[in-house]
Amino acid sequence: TEERLRHSELLSTLGELAAGVAHEIRNPLTSLKGFVQLLQKSDLQQAYYYTIMLDELDRINNIVGELLVLAKPQQLVFERESVGQIVKDVLALLQPQANFHGIELVFEEDGLPAIDCEGNQLKQLFINLVKNAFEANATMVKVMIKERDGYISIRVQDNGCGMPPERLTHLGEPFFSVKEKGTGLGLTVSYRIVEAHGGKLTFTSEVGEGTVAEVLLPIKNHTSV
Ligand code: ADP
Ligand code: MG
Repeated sequence: TEERLRHSELLSTLGELAAGVAHEIRNPLTSLKGFVQLLQKSDLQQAYYYTIMLDELDRINNIVGELLVLAKPQQLVFERESVGQIVKDVLALLQPQANFHGIELVFEEDGLPAIDCEGNQLKQLFINLVKNAFEANATMVKVMIKERDGYISIRVQDNGCGMPPERLTHLGEPFFSVKEKGTGLGLTVSYRIVEAHGGKLTFTSEVGEGTVAEVLLPIKNHTSV
């Protein structure tokens, strides 16, 4: 227990540090991006290099954004909200991206149950899971939501590349990524969000067949956060 306590203290100190650093990085990053965009417009010959620079700036921005979510949240506001509606909103947000990549996005719901939750965090969670499904070369991503045994189950199923068993054990480790442009923070953030809701996140996967990510969120009000 003492070991665990020290571990959680360390994590919260790290969280505060990450939040501070991430905020400080955001501002110069935004200004850098503006100047690169300006140069790109005035120097058409080198436009390609500026595009690469902008891509890399976006990449840093993504990492910083995820660090901010990871960082100790200032104040989580839990409100009664429909998880189903949140999932629906996320899918509407990602539909253009699915169309662009020729991915069929399917939503199956059986009511849109409400629970006490942090809407913004859940939104971030589902974006992370659905984006991973897109990035696994899936042609179909199916999101199913249903109630069972006091939990709301949200399953994100894809028919993409899948994962070998060995990789499953590393999911959620900070910076664990096998993608060329990955941050390896998406699932770290995702596990953190599910934990904050007293829920569970599990993965089942088969190489060449696809992956199912399942989020279980307790329906019962939780009093302590
Ligand atoms: P990133 O997406 O930046 O790589 P994540 O934390 O979101 O970081 O995911 C970590 C790794 O888990 C990914 O690089 C990928 O190898 C694996 N992964 C996650 N979701 C899926 C999925 N749906 N299908 C296949 N692999 C996945
Ligand atoms: Mg990801």
